[in-house]
Amino acid sequence: MQVLVVGAGVVGCAVAYELVARGAEVQMLDARRAGEGASQAAAGILAPYIEGHSPEFLQLGVQSLGLYDAFIERVSRDSGLPIDYRRIGTLEVALNEEQAHHLRTTAEKYNATHVEHQYLEPAAARVLEPGLAPTATGALLIPNHGYVQSRALVHALEVAARQKGVSVKSTVKVEALQQRHNRVQVHLSEGSTIEVDALVLATGSWSARVAVKQAMPAPVKPIRGQLLNLVCNTPSAAHVIWSPDCYLVPLQDGTILVGATVEDVGFDERSTAAAVQHLLQVAQAVLPTIKDARLRDVRVGLRPVSPDELPLVGPSCEWPNVIYATGHYRNGVLLAPLTAKIVADFLLENAKAPELMLTTPSRFGL
Ligand SMILES: Cc1cc2nc3c(=O)[nH]c(=O)nc-3n(C[C@H](O)[C@H](O)[C@H](O)COP(=O)(O)OP(=O)(O)OC[C@H]3O[C@@H](n4cnc5c(N)ncnc54)[C@H](O)[C@@H]3O)c2cc1C
Repeated sequence: MQVLVVGAGVVGCAVAYELVARGAEVQMLDARRAGEGASQAAAGILAPYIEGHSPEFLQLGVQSLGLYDAFIERVSRDSGLPIDYRRIGTLEVALNEEQAHHLRTTAEKYNATHVEHQYLEPAAARVLEPGLAPTATGALLIPNHGYVQSRALVHALEVAARQKGVSVKSTVKVEALQQRHNRVQVHLSEGSTIEVDALVLATGSWSARVAVKQAMPAPVKPIRGQLLNLVCNTPSAAHVIWSPDCYLVPLQDGTILVGATVEDVGFDERSTAAAVQHLLQVAQAVLPTIKDARLRDVRVGLRPVSPDELPLVGPSCEWPNVIYATGHYRNGVLLAPLTAKIVADFLLENAKAPELMLTTPSRFGL
């Protein structure tokens, strides 16, 4: 089967890699270069129990996290590249009594489940993280969580996909789609047209611009996120630290990521002084030691969000050979392995994964 994957972010690259690994003939193209959309800005946190505000998301997130060890092992092996991926746990930190009460309540809820966790009083939390602010009033440790360095992952996915035979084209945009004899005809910005058996739309925040039904574009819009990369002189933290106002991710290269803003400002990908100031301030409130760090860069990305904040993964009702893989909002990195599996199961094995019930684009009439 010939498949075109449109969009080479973490989602498109994971889908292309999975499809080629299972025997499809795959092309992938991107209006920019691979990974230059939202995926270059992602912190790469893998924390479904923190991010899981709805039971549906929690189900998807936990399942995808369960695929991660094997996913990274395969991508590393096939690309020959190391990927900074560590399940070092998240430490959710409270900075006042109300927040500590919330964490204790969450811990009590987990007591009745299989979710491994530990509620820590301030002194015990500081034994685990000596750099924590003295104002910390409690913390919740979830050891199974972790992070993956998103830029390294996308690069390794692209290399692994190429090695297995995916043809990757940069700076080529899909302008329009048509159906022709049960195949998808794709009109490209360079003026040419290609035809494939199936097409995967992994176009992130720009998904509404590649409409299958002209009158009904995908209901996906951009939400800007800004994130800082700091260089620390001393080891910064042993866990991913999460507070109500920010998170901090200590990478193995000695830098730390501090994120992130959540801004509804359309397709504006510029960074702002106000965001830098805000993130530095809230990060120091949790981990005062970062005051001596150097600011290396500010990363900005547009998270693709759908109205119910769940991704759209599955076939279009109108054209079943066009598969959506978009709308992953704050968790595209976490959900990439599961998304790739759902798409490949559907296209190549004709198998409808149970998760399609949650992600089907038909819930929006697509
Ligand atoms: C600051 C920040 C922090 C984040 N932190 C995390 C985190 O900790 N954990 C996590 O899981 N997620 C995180 N995310 C979310 C994550 O980055 C996104 O969910 C994910 O990157 C979406 O991947 P994607 O491949 O769908 O989109 P993108 O990476 O945006 O890729 C879409 C690609 O499609 C291309 N494209 C669009 N239209 C066309 C067209 N017509 N023709 C050709 N190409 C096209 C674009 O050029 C782009 O490269 C974060 C995001 C931000 C901004």
